[in-house]
Amino acid sequence: MIKLKTKEEVELLRENNLLVSKTLAEVAKYVKPGVTTDELDRVAEEFIRDNGAIPGFLGYNGFPKTLCVSVNDGIVHGIPSSYALREGDIVSIDCGTILKGFYGDSAYTFAVGEIDPEVQRLLDVTREALYKGVAQAKAGNRVGDISAAVQKHAETNGYSVVRELTGHGLGRKMHEDPEVPNFGTAGRGPVLKEGMVLCIEPMINAGKKAVVFESDGWTVRTRDRMPSAHFEWAVAVRGPGADGKPQTADVLTDFTIIDEAVWQNKLQLKKTER
Ligand code: MG
Ligand code: MG
Repeated sequence: MIKLKTKEEVELLRENNLLVSKTLAEVAKYVKPGVTTDELDRVAEEFIRDNGAIPGFLGYNGFPKTLCVSVNDGIVHGIPSSYALREGDIVSIDCGTILKGFYGDSAYTFAVGEIDPEVQRLLDVTREALYKGVAQAKAGNRVGDISAAVQKHAETNGYSVVRELTGHGLGRKMHEDPEVPNFGTAGRGPVLKEGMVLCIEPMINAGKKAVVFESDGWTVRTRDRMPSAHFEWAVAVRGPGADGKPQTADVLTDFTIIDEAVWQNKLQLKKTER
């Protein structure tokens, strides 16, 4: 059953996803060679609690940490550990919050220092695929319009789309209906309506689409060990505009503050090199 949110509920979800965005921006300051993924997790947990919220993933189905941190061939659900980031790694960081009875859930894939231009292209295309999907999140469209747009952009760029994990509705629960796959057929699936809040989250592999579920019970990685990227926004489907036409979605996640933190971090790293 798909729960439509009131305007007030959308604002609470915005508050959550803004906090997730701020948390990811805080974490971004620490993404550099030598930092362990456990250290990033501690930064996130402290930041979330200092802001009066609860980490949304901690204890979710028994997940042991605040962040999902997935490095290189890790796709999603990696458990923070003593692994120290290395120059050239990419790291998907997925973060959730619980505040005022609602969830936040957004993800960003960071470059660690200088990365291979081919891997940068994977990040760029995955992010573009997210934007293409979000552009379809309009009242009257269907979930399949989002899915098809994401898949088309990834595949026309020579990449493949993970099938086993999908986006989802977001609300008082982290995973609500509908599922939002990153592959599918335009014109199929549930009709999008005002008040639906969706997490759109392309997981795009540089190589083949096959995945492996690791024996830690959480980590999902690529079978061929090629890198994978992941970006996630929470968006609210809006009602018609003044012209009566469907409006583009209200984006509840704020990547601009994360991008700014990434840029500042890069400048800082360059300075310390000199
Ligand atoms: Mg997420
Ligand atoms: Mg999600």
